[in-house]
Amino acid sequence: MYPLEIHNRGVRLFKHQTEGPFEALRSVSSGLETALFLVGRDGIVLFANETAKTLFGFQEMEDRTILAVTLSHHLEQLIKQAAQDASPRSEELSLRTTQDLAVIARAWPNPSSPKQVFLSIRDVTEVRRLERVRQDFVANVSHEIKTPLTLIRAMAEVLADVEQDDRFLREKYLHQIIGEVDRLSALVDDLLILSCAEGESIERRSCDLAAIVNDVVLQMRPKAIARGLVLEWTQLNPAMILANPDQIRQVALNLIDNAINYTSSGKVSVEVASAEARAILRICDTGIGIPSEDLPRIFERFYRVDKSRSRSSGGTGLGLSIAKHIVEAHGGVLSVTSALHQGSEFVVSLEEQES
Ligand code: ADP
Repeated sequence: MYPLEIHNRGVRLFKHQTEGPFEALRSVSSGLETALFLVGRDGIVLFANETAKTLFGFQEMEDRTILAVTLSHHLEQLIKQAAQDASPRSEELSLRTTQDLAVIARAWPNPSSPKQVFLSIRDVTEVRRLERVRQDFVANVSHEIKTPLTLIRAMAEVLADVEQDDRFLREKYLHQIIGEVDRLSALVDDLLILSCAEGESIERRSCDLAAIVNDVVLQMRPKAIARGLVLEWTQLNPAMILANPDQIRQVALNLIDNAINYTSSGKVSVEVASAEARAILRICDTGIGIPSEDLPRIFERFYRVDKSRSRSSGGTGLGLSIAKHIVEAHGGVLSVTSALHQGSEFVVSLEEQES
């Protein structure tokens, strides 16, 4: 049992002669993810929990001013205001510690000792980042939907005015309308795939990566031939993995489809091998390549190097982000190397199932 005296005289009475004055506060706040300070007269830190020390990278905080340990005038002001008004104050602000953080800081007077103020700091950087990602995503999806809708409407208006017997114009516009509707369908399909991949926990079973890729190669061969490309398929050895075969199929499909779409002449080589307990899928093309400045961004949703090329090949801008998401959810790695005008190589590496 802790020899603590906790009663209505509050924090100062947590003291015990063999322990520091804030031992109970330390015990209670040691498990908090929130940084907690108790600040006394002149802004001197009386107590800081471990999270506070880690957040500001400062171990000996006690007996220094809150400004010295946090380097934040905002926090200092917040504490002053809470002390002056004798009421809680809270604010969202940015803090520069070892990195830039968004935090919600709250200061409130210690009910047991009005000269003291508690200060809690909750890191909301990740929450705000995710909110921004979501907002950007909604904005991007809306834009992607709006463009074909605007075109469909404009073409439908033209069609309404076209003479009944002008077959050529009617066919031209109807064709384009069908193309735009197909584009919308592809986008909705990819959004559903993305939402499934993000939402569900993976139902894994034992499967052969080579067999999955073999099916995809068979499916894609007519498209490659139609474009005058050689689709080379090499299976070096079986590569058993514990995975969701439908999702892995989707990865292979997206990568091989891209390799064909972004290659004007030459070949696309697909290879599955196993090496050092990893199952490796390698897709190599002799296509347009990716500029080095774009490489870090191509896995972002809706990022395209060449918008019109992506559009003309029926791309949604989601294929690589879906592939990366699925591979990483399986604990694997998707990497790329590329040389402009020479070609690209995408490599999926997954843990091989022990036999
Ligand atoms: P998209 O539907 O536009 O193909 P992806 O997410 O699949 O979208 O790919 C994003 C972008 O990365 C593409 O628009 C293209 O610019 C580039 N890219 C992807 N794969 C290749 C490749 N094999 N060769 C060249 N560029 C590629």
